[in-house]
Amino acid sequence: MHGVRLLPACLDLGRRPRLSIQNVVSIGGPVFKPRPAEYGPGAGAARFGIFKDSDIEETDIEVKDIEVKVMAQLEIFQFPTRSDNYGVLIHDPKTGATASIDAPEAAPILAALAQKGWDLTDILVTHHHADHTAGIGALKNRYGCTVYGPAREAGLIPGLDVEVKEGDTVSVGHADATVIDTSGHTRGHVSYYFPDQAPVFVGDTLFSVGCGKLLEGDAPTMWASLSKLAALPPETDVYCGHEYTGANCRFALTIEPDNAALRARAAEVAENDANGRPSLPTTIGLERATNPFLRASSPEIQARLGLEGQPLEAVFGEVRRRKDRF
Ligand code: ZN
Ligand code: FE
Repeated sequence: MHGVRLLPACLDLGRRPRLSIQNVVSIGGPVFKPRPAEYGPGAGAARFGIFKDSDIEETDIEVKDIEVKVMAQLEIFQFPTRSDNYGVLIHDPKTGATASIDAPEAAPILAALAQKGWDLTDILVTHHHADHTAGIGALKNRYGCTVYGPAREAGLIPGLDVEVKEGDTVSVGHADATVIDTSGHTRGHVSYYFPDQAPVFVGDTLFSVGCGKLLEGDAPTMWASLSKLAALPPETDVYCGHEYTGANCRFALTIEPDNAALRARAAEVAENDANGRPSLPTTIGLERATNPFLRASSPEIQARLGLEGQPLEAVFGEVRRRKDRF
């Protein structure tokens, strides 16, 4: 039997009081019975909910078993749209809230919603490009959903309701996303990171074994953005706006041919392509091991580019230039 005493600062006093198990400061005490119905199916994240409204500063929270690590689990549905985009729906089974990550085009998203039996409540827009926003109007007409997107691209995103910036929180039902500024591909590009459920939605900033083109930002800006994503936990699932993984691997092998992890990934991706299987989502750990745009510190890459000991953003910039010409 364990009890858990909380640091007041760790508690969210909003509509979803809870704590993360990392914030436990002392153990010892009686019993808290988690009610399974309060949580989504499945378990695994180091977080559990406390459905209790009170002045919690003096509250001892009791847990039955500290190994019971449950959370509101998001359902994620990825499907191809346009020529090489992915659509992604995320769904909170407890509240029914459903968000589309970007809106490449309406029809496949409507079909995916119908297939899953979900009603769209939110659209989380990463950046203003048409292949990420063209479906907003029709989806909003149909569902009256709330559209979130980067404040710095506010004039460029049709139907934008809520402007977001670095550090903001966007909620989809019980799940909270942190907004990360990942500008570089466009001036205001943002990514949405759900720290409890572990996916990050990165639009056109990071691709598997690749990254977005520098259309509205320079190499140092993009390097800073990619570095933020690379610093997320390695097990983080990464959902990208496009499937370019096969072509990206062919380029990456010209930059770092002796990288064994990259060679293994390239073989896996070739097999996926041959079988019509997606190579996404990827993970932060896999990208750190294989993606030349995250690997500016690699001695092999620096030597191949003749940029030994140069600033990492300069090495990154040269990799990006070579990819543009590839
Ligand atoms: Zn784009
Ligand atoms: Fe795109």
